[in-house]
Amino acid sequence: MTPERPAFFETRIEYLKGVGPARAALLNTELHIFTYADLVQHYPFRYEDRTRFHEIRELTEEMPAAQLKGRLRYWEVVGEGPKTRLVGTFTDGTGTMDLVWFQGISWLEKNLRRDGEYVVYGKPVAFGGKFSITHPELEVLTPENEAGGYWQPVYNLTDRLRKRHVDSKVIARMQRTLLEAALPYVRETLPAELIQKYRLISKRDALWHIHLPANEAALHQAKRRLKFEELFYNQFRLIKQKLIRKTDYAGQIFTKTDLVTQFYKDHLPFDLTNAQKRVIREIFEDLRTGRQMNRLLQGDVGSGKTIVAFIAMLLAVANGAQACLMAPTEILSDQHYQGLKPYAEAMGLKIVELTGSTNKKGRRLIHEGLLDGSIHLIVGTHALLEDPVQFRNLGLCIIDEQQRFGVAQRARLWAKNPTVYPHVLVMTATPIPRTLAMTLYGDLDVSIIDELPAGRKPIKTVHRYDSHRLAVFGFLREEIRKGRQVYIVYPLIEESEKLDFKDLMDGYESVARAFPEYQLSIVHGRMPFRDKDYEMQRFIRRETQILVATTVIEVGVNVPNASVMVIESAERFGLAQLHQLRGRVGRGAEQSYCVLMTDVKLSKETRQRLETMVRTNNGFEIADVDLKLRGPGDLSGTQQSGVVDLIIADLAKDGEILKAARECAQAILDDDPDLVLPQHAPIRDHVESVRADERNWARIS
Ligand code: ADP
Ligand code: MG
Repeated sequence: MTPERPAFFETRIEYLKGVGPARAALLNTELHIFTYADLVQHYPFRYEDRTRFHEIRELTEEMPAAQLKGRLRYWEVVGEGPKTRLVGTFTDGTGTMDLVWFQGISWLEKNLRRDGEYVVYGKPVAFGGKFSITHPELEVLTPENEAGGYWQPVYNLTDRLRKRHVDSKVIARMQRTLLEAALPYVRETLPAELIQKYRLISKRDALWHIHLPANEAALHQAKRRLKFEELFYNQFRLIKQKLIRKTDYAGQIFTKTDLVTQFYKDHLPFDLTNAQKRVIREIFEDLRTGRQMNRLLQGDVGSGKTIVAFIAMLLAVANGAQACLMAPTEILSDQHYQGLKPYAEAMGLKIVELTGSTNKKGRRLIHEGLLDGSIHLIVGTHALLEDPVQFRNLGLCIIDEQQRFGVAQRARLWAKNPTVYPHVLVMTATPIPRTLAMTLYGDLDVSIIDELPAGRKPIKTVHRYDSHRLAVFGFLREEIRKGRQVYIVYPLIEESEKLDFKDLMDGYESVARAFPEYQLSIVHGRMPFRDKDYEMQRFIRRETQILVATTVIEVGVNVPNASVMVIESAERFGLAQLHQLRGRVGRGAEQSYCVLMTDVKLSKETRQRLETMVRTNNGFEIADVDLKLRGPGDLSGTQQSGVVDLIIADLAKDGEILKAARECAQAILDDDPDLVLPQHAPIRDHVESVRADERNWARIS
């Protein structure tokens, strides 16, 4: 133990030379920098090339920025009102150019030196054959900056900081002061073995060069090292959690399969796909081990996760336990309940549904039935989490569409069986790119259904502008004539709820006018559940041909005869959501279609999203594009899951490093789970210091 290290890095930032109380207060509020540790971990987000000086005669408009040195010949203030500006004439012997300021003119007039030598940095723009830079960075030429040859780190800043003259240069100076003092206290956090194997630079060098890179190569190495470390510890923690669960948490042992065999023999409505069979095997193996199962089941929309869930539930019941299936919305819960009820009843099992709409008496009966064990299976929404819901012996929890459930809610389900935690199967239809899955669900075992039931035709997707609506309606009419049903979906985003609601209603009316011969259903979030359900049921029974809806139908709704999905204002949906919506069709034997309606004016990124949808039906490919376009922070449900904890690694780009880091973490934990080997001391120390930190924070907050 070297106690001085944490102590040093916990020093409050105002004690750093050149900071002081006023700036410290600013750093606290603006950047949440309180200690030396916080400052040193405030990494630059990009770097400017100051390694060389450009000459005026070689400037081009394509340059993102240029660094020049030369003489400020003279200046004058020109223009009036908001156009008032100070224009300086700058020369370096190869040409002349203008330096332009709209702000701070009086200060500049007082402080600029005629014929003074300066270093200038900024974006060159050509104007009438002459180059100029507006609001350049300007420094008096000194022996240091004349030497050039450095990369300027650029830090996240706020307007308030800039107004108080705390810019990237100032932060870089603080970093230099800090690092010069701090290097002796920096401890290596990775074992020597790993550093050698992956040719990583030391933690000390990495911290130095991430802030003050000597050259491009050093910067690259610094980033690589810090990313590796971050991802290594991220994976280490997840794998460790998984190990702890595997060794410490017992699970009920389910070996009797009679109910399952009987179901296969008498009631299975179709042949399972090979992928479904494989996943069922994986689950059954887990349920035999005597350890709690924590498994993620990933399967694209329509891949048939529900039947897998039901078969797992049967196994639990066959072994004297109860099982629950939790869905994120009432519509979905209802649909699962309606879908599973015939199977359950054919097997002589009692299944019930519990949601926010269940009345008081119904609730009481359910509470009693769960406690005395007469209810075998329960389907429901968040209502299942409520305290009065207690089981005689809950053995298996299935959570559908995980992205809507937080980790805390998962834990509340566990608590429903305090004697032995129930096994948990989390199902998600949001395909998650491998890199993201590793960091989000690294503590879960993963099963994947990567095969659709036989006979499914790939959905045909097209993109149409709003101006082609008549043609689209014509197409819908043809499909309905063939006996198909149609979804028309409108966005409903909370921030613009009123406007969106109006769009939905206007849309509904225009569809009603265009299709007087057909019946319409409408479903949206503002309706009471009973009305929603009534409208859905009419659609399911084919009494209506068109369902106009908001995204409440996004997840899981299953109406095999509906073969056309029209998405209005498709530009306003994210890729994952579009894919989810499209997944509502293509569930029967008929050819299905998805029509993406948009305005003609579209951003480049939106076009890319739409093109991706038109090009592919593959959820994993779509998830990858999504990750690249949006970055991981935005992907649904990731906010509370720890992804945002990554400071420097970028899941969209650092897949290779992540893979290596995960393999190392796994190998070390396989080899030495308690970190007793001397070569693993750096890991042990780091884990302990992080834990101590967390304890401190817990005490404070
Ligand atoms: P998801 O994985 O999206 O939840 P579902 O479980 O709702 O998919 O299944 C989609 C549809 O496919 C349902 O109508 C279901 O009955 C059907 N299905 C599931 N597995 C098979 C299979 N092996 N063969 C044929 N149809 C299947
Ligand atoms: Mg489903």
